[in-house]
Amino acid sequence: MPEVIPKIEDNFFKKLPYLSFQEISYYIASLFLSNDIESSKLKKIVEKSINFDAPLLKLGANFYILELWHGPTLAFKDFGARFMAQLMGYFVKDTSKPLHILVATSGDTGSAIANSFLGIEGIKVLVLYPKNRVSKIQEQQFTTLGKNITAFEVDGSFDDCQKLVKTTFLDEDLNKILRLTSANSINVGRLIPQIFYYVYAYSRFKENKDLVFSVPSGNFGNLTAGIIAMEMGLPVNKFIASTNINKVVPEYLRTGIFSPASSFQTISNAMDVGNPSNFDRILDLFDHSFEKAKDKIDGFYFTDAETKSAMKEMYSKFNYIVDPHGAVGYLGLKGYLRSHPESAGICLGTAHPAKFLDVVKPTLNTNVEIPKRLQSFMTKKGESVQISNLYEDFKNWILGKK
Ligand SMILES: *Cc1c(COP(=O)(O)O)cnc(C)c1O
Repeated sequence: MPEVIPKIEDNFFKKLPYLSFQEISYYIASLFLSNDIESSKLKKIVEKSINFDAPLLKLGANFYILELWHGPTLAFKDFGARFMAQLMGYFVKDTSKPLHILVATSGDTGSAIANSFLGIEGIKVLVLYPKNRVSKIQEQQFTTLGKNITAFEVDGSFDDCQKLVKTTFLDEDLNKILRLTSANSINVGRLIPQIFYYVYAYSRFKENKDLVFSVPSGNFGNLTAGIIAMEMGLPVNKFIASTNINKVVPEYLRTGIFSPASSFQTISNAMDVGNPSNFDRILDLFDHSFEKAKDKIDGFYFTDAETKSAMKEMYSKFNYIVDPHGAVGYLGLKGYLRSHPESAGICLGTAHPAKFLDVVKPTLNTNVEIPKRLQSFMTKKGESVQISNLYEDFKNWILGKK
């Protein structure tokens, strides 16, 4: 957590409608980082990482969607990963030992991290993913890159991958010879860039109504960034925590009891999280008060069947093709607006529908255009190191004994 949450100045709010997304991003970044990075360097970091748009589309009365998937790997995780990569590249520069970044992934995180760190000097990325459990498109996005990115196909589950990563961090021998860090934990370098687009969306929101954001959530990093934006002074009336049946947070908001559980598999699989790691951060932002949290966040959860109907509804009503995660956000917003006619809302669109073709195609019975940047991954040949789920196997590879 940042030690202090800086405030957005009144003067900035006056200029806001005239500023570009990059200008807004740079201002927010400088509130957090101006003591650590000189302004010209920080400007470059923003320009290099936030070099794609986040359009705000009006779909219906009181209802908007903020498309956060215009980056290279077509999900909102590109924002966090790309900014963090440029920051780390900046801080690592003066040292001689390369920094090894370990990331366990069930799909989206690995592709965003690998693509963001590709070619950054002084950094090597090791991506561990479970064999036969990530989609072909996702696998192609981190196995075809080469250069400073190495992918490991682990004969095991996602939990096994995570265990290998955690064991490596605790290994004293390896820590003596290598500099190791993780990209899984949502460090502040990943949270800050997620604040940018809340402020940007607000700047483009033209309704004279109370603003609510509906956030399709799993690990709750995205929602945490929204709450930080609010504490910086952004006038947000309410956040809606929209989840699939992995509903520990909506349940907490209803009962005041937080009971982490094992996760269930759903069609919005990037939100299949039973014990969200950012929950503690959210509590901290509300001074550990259930009442305060409840006052600012409403929770809704939905089944796969409901999610599919919402995808169909958005297609027929707005002629809009949404991915399953965005559909969950839509449902949460709709549920809230039903009893709050004084509000208008923005749903965060977290992934391009082409990333979830196997759900989107049969549900909507239509073809989804696959963006060029995704197609280009499909034509390349992937390469990965095959390892078992035993730590020795992974360690030996790192030590170069294989
Ligand atoms: C990661 C992800 C989410 C969940 O975001 P959190 O910050 O973990 O709550 C939602 N949708 C998509 C497409 C994602 O990749």
